[in-house]
Amino acid sequence: MSRKYPNVIITGTPGVGKTTTAQELIEISKSSDSPSSSIPLKHLSVNKIAKEENFYESYDEELQTHVVDEDKLLDHIENLIANGAGEGGWIIDWHVCDIFPERWIDLVVVLRCEDTKTFYERLTSDRKAEGGEKRGYTGRKLQENIDAEIFGVIAEEAKEAWPNEGAVVELISEEAEQIEENAERIWEWCKRWVKDNPRDVDGEEG
Ligand code: ADP
Repeated sequence: MSRKYPNVIITGTPGVGKTTTAQELIEISKSSDSPSSSIPLKHLSVNKIAKEENFYESYDEELQTHVVDEDKLLDHIENLIANGAGEGGWIIDWHVCDIFPERWIDLVVVLRCEDTKTFYERLTSDRKAEGGEKRGYTGRKLQENIDAEIFGVIAEEAKEAWPNEGAVVELISEEAEQIEENAERIWEWCKRWVKDNPRDVDGEEG
């Protein structure tokens, strides 16, 4: 592996706080004062890309959601990730993780909100999160997402796709303070990865 910086996916059921946490992480990386530990992290919001590039193949009326063309999406993301000699540092934010090839990702973070009341309030709130989507979920869409979070569906999918010990980390995202705490933890992990995976100037592993 010749990446200079780690690629991280922040995943979890819609509404767990992926976008907010990814944005916080990018802010932390920008304000890092020590040049030796600076890592140029880049936010890759898959929802945003799918919308901007119109990678939709259909609309699911019952779940009130667009169905993403995964082949087009993967081709596009592969190009992005391969750019800059694949230097890495991508913070991918999406509720699906197991379509990505295992080798693209160095850490899988699954955010969890197991407190159903809190989660219900978040999904039914029609306040638009900064950079996020307007929710106000109802009906089957609401129920399916609540069930998915209760049963930890995405955490299971992640562990199946990244079976190596330590590849998948679950972090609780129920309280506001946890947004920063979780972003800090991911940031510390990124810095440690860079130290543990030195790369020489030719881009080979050190
Ligand atoms: P996702 O990207 O996983 O769909 P968002 O980051 O858009 O989720 O967050 C959904 C809503 O929940 C936003 O209004 C956000 O401010 C709020 N939120 C996310 N995480 C937390 C948390 N740990 N504590 C309180 N509110 C949160």
